[in-house]
Amino acid sequence: MDFLTIASGSSGNAMLVSSENTSILIDAGISMKKIEQGLNSAGRTLKDISGILITHEHIDHIGGLGVLSRKYNIPIYCTGGTIAGINTTNRIGTIDNSLYNRIDSNEDFQIGDLMVHAEPVWHDANEPCCYSICNSGKKISIATDLGDYNDNIIESIKDSDFLLIEANHDIRMLEVGPYPFKIKQRILGKYGHLSNEACGRLLLNVLNSHMKGIVLGHLSKDNNFPELAYETVKYELKDNPFTDDVRDFNLTVARRDTPSKLIQV
Ligand SMILES: [Zn+2]
Ligand SMILES: [Zn+2]
Repeated sequence: MDFLTIASGSSGNAMLVSSENTSILIDAGISMKKIEQGLNSAGRTLKDISGILITHEHIDHIGGLGVLSRKYNIPIYCTGGTIAGINTTNRIGTIDNSLYNRIDSNEDFQIGDLMVHAEPVWHDANEPCCYSICNSGKKISIATDLGDYNDNIIESIKDSDFLLIEANHDIRMLEVGPYPFKIKQRILGKYGHLSNEACGRLLLNVLNSHMKGIVLGHLSKDNNFPELAYETVKYELKDNPFTDDVRDFNLTVARRDTPSKLIQV
């Protein structure tokens, strides 16, 4: 399988996962033009896309979905709660109801030759989930906007060969930063976002000997920066049972608005 981060962060998210025969987007939270440019940078186009998985209805995950679905009629896969959430936002225009494929979180379903598992997550959206995608014995998981994690989430993303995982904020930066108290409480809470430290602790629960790459994503623009996220997670991972050198996990940080290279998993 191939994996591409087109954008990741609190200002917009979009990723590509593809097998030899099937390509899907996970979230469409940036403009269609930027999604297209990101795909082009990896030699792909929007015409290659067979489906769009949406994690939840917050605008940083659906901002480009209206324009995209009206132009390309790509099937959309998400939970019923997320469909309702998308339909009540007035920021992305109308989406043709026939494009929606309602899934149950906790369900496995197939798009072409990709097997997808949806797992419910904590987060203050209607019915948010994270996704694991399998093909030819490989597994890629994408888990952002978590807030907190539990055994079910650990179970669903462990054994991944490749992982994009949320490292949203540094707790101290957030605490002393400019956000209003209420928003700080929201981000720090169970229904908010995962801190760098919590990300490292979750990773310790899901590491394995065949993990080929870990990308830290959904970084806050105001309460984190890539080097800090990297160093904090690296420190949390130092006592893992698989390797003395965390570089063996190919730990990297997703750029907010610059596409990654296409990664082969
Ligand atoms: Zn988000
Ligand atoms: Zn969100």
